[in-house]
Amino acid sequence: MANRHFDIVVIGGGPAGYVGAIRAAQLGYKVACVERAKLGGVCLNWGCIPSKALLTNAELMEKLSHRDFFGLKIEGDIGFEWDKVIGRSRDVAGKLNQGIHFLFKKNKIEHIEGNAKIVSGNTNGKKCTVEIQDCEVNEEFTPAPAKPGKTRETITCDNIIVATGSVARELPGAPFDHDRIWGAREAMFNKEMPKKLIVVGSGAIGMEFGYFYNSFGSEVTVVEMLDRILPVEDTEVSKAMEKHYKRKDGFNIKTSTITTKVEKTKDGVKVTVAPFKDGKADESKAETIEADRVLVAIGVKGRYDGLFDDSLKLETFKDHIKTDYVPNNAVADEHYDYKTNIPGIYAVGDVIGPPWLAHVASEEAIICVERIAWKAGKLNHEPHPIDYTVIPGCTYCQPQVASVGFTEQALIAKGLKKGEDYEVGKYNFQAHGKAIAAAHQEGFTKIIRGLPHGEILGAHIMGDQATELIAELTLARRLEATSEDLIATVHAHPTMHEAIHEAALASEGKLIHG
Ligand SMILES: Cc1cc2nc3c(=O)[nH]c(=O)nc-3n(C[C@H](O)[C@H](O)[C@H](O)COP(=O)(O)OP(=O)(O)OC[C@H]3O[C@@H](n4cnc5c(N)ncnc54)[C@H](O)[C@@H]3O)c2cc1C
Repeated sequence: MANRHFDIVVIGGGPAGYVGAIRAAQLGYKVACVERAKLGGVCLNWGCIPSKALLTNAELMEKLSHRDFFGLKIEGDIGFEWDKVIGRSRDVAGKLNQGIHFLFKKNKIEHIEGNAKIVSGNTNGKKCTVEIQDCEVNEEFTPAPAKPGKTRETITCDNIIVATGSVARELPGAPFDHDRIWGAREAMFNKEMPKKLIVVGSGAIGMEFGYFYNSFGSEVTVVEMLDRILPVEDTEVSKAMEKHYKRKDGFNIKTSTITTKVEKTKDGVKVTVAPFKDGKADESKAETIEADRVLVAIGVKGRYDGLFDDSLKLETFKDHIKTDYVPNNAVADEHYDYKTNIPGIYAVGDVIGPPWLAHVASEEAIICVERIAWKAGKLNHEPHPIDYTVIPGCTYCQPQVASVGFTEQALIAKGLKKGEDYEVGKYNFQAHGKAIAAAHQEGFTKIIRGLPHGEILGAHIMGDQATELIAELTLARRLEATSEDLIATVHAHPTMHEAIHEAALASEGKLIHG
């Protein structure tokens, strides 16, 4: 049988891969998407979406624990059925996974189940070639270990887009064991709720799971090597979140603390931690913490093990596939093709590096496909590039955290001075009508505007609905709106959005409610 040939083969069916495949099909390409696990990738099946289902349950638990305050009469303790809590989150993931199957059919995308191995790019007159192998994937285990088997089929194509995502990093000497040393998959899908949980790493994933388990009654200890939680956020946000969480029952935070050892005990884990300063652990002050489970959430690296034949000599960069896009160094309005060093092969999403976010992965895939089409004369205008300085980042515990643009520390590090180069406007939710009515007074909105023009350099929100509110400021920054534009925009009353109006007013010294 002759090899099947496609215009574009996308490897990976996550938010990068499936979105790229749909866009390519819309542009008239004959497309195949090879996925060895479930369509929807980590995001739909093991990340963004099911974790938000769990967090919705957590918020409800937390609200009900204040039932007296809300004037509700519910006798006895509020109980829960753990398997239903977890089950609802799995059902949500399942529903969305089916949605992608439907979209593939609608767009006539060939969904190929199996492991992809790239054996050729467009080198020396060859076509891009991909072997499809039978594959067993242990999806419930972090990091979804895969066992490729025999090659079932070999397909060719004009271009390959690699969208194979990322895998969780492990602590040295403490590999994930699907029992006591957890990654996100075990935290999301387990039979029993741990009474005591240690979370190593206080980024979005660590804080979200910490909040979830604590809301259901687990005693949680978050261990963070850096000097503040949510270290990518503005310092004011990190500090306010730490203050809030330290006040919570059964929630402990240890910053500037490194995890030096994880031992498994008969029933749980013993984690040794030590103060961490100037890149060094102070072992003389080490202590051990015992718990039922430890969740390791210390970041990710690209997933491309065994994906490329060695003869292709793939270039990598800091554990990710190297493309013409250089993470953390991106400049506004720079065009990237997301090309690897192998002709005809592109890579997008988590596999090419930070920011490891679903919305970034999807956008990269769209731009990558559109640039292929534009260069082939299928699109009559050059696609707008992603502005990597305008990417919203969100953490969905309560209070939520969301931000876009520069932190104040990043501006100071660039040599900018408050009062000369930028001004800050801050508005607390303590006095905010809608926040008081909704009993969500914790938090604030902080807007940093440039001087003298007032452009939005950065915006940082901690509080209820922060992850929705950030869209207004993302658009403002994208459109180069100024604080004056935000002020001149009439905001509905009563809404949390009024806080953005007030913070913009505050940045010009005109705060009304405060
Ligand atoms: C707990 C958790 C919560 C998260 N929450 C958020 C959030 O709220 N917001 C957000 O923006 N991001 C969130 N993320 C991150 C988000 O999930 C990722 O950024 C996103 O999934 C990356 O998309 P991707 O398409 O690059 O990769 P993935 O979603 O990882 O998809 C890659 C796919 O490729 C497949 N694959 C890999 N190798 C092969 C191969 N050789 N052959 C065939 N198929 C292969 C894999 O099976 C996988 O399905 C979260 C992540 C986690 C773990």
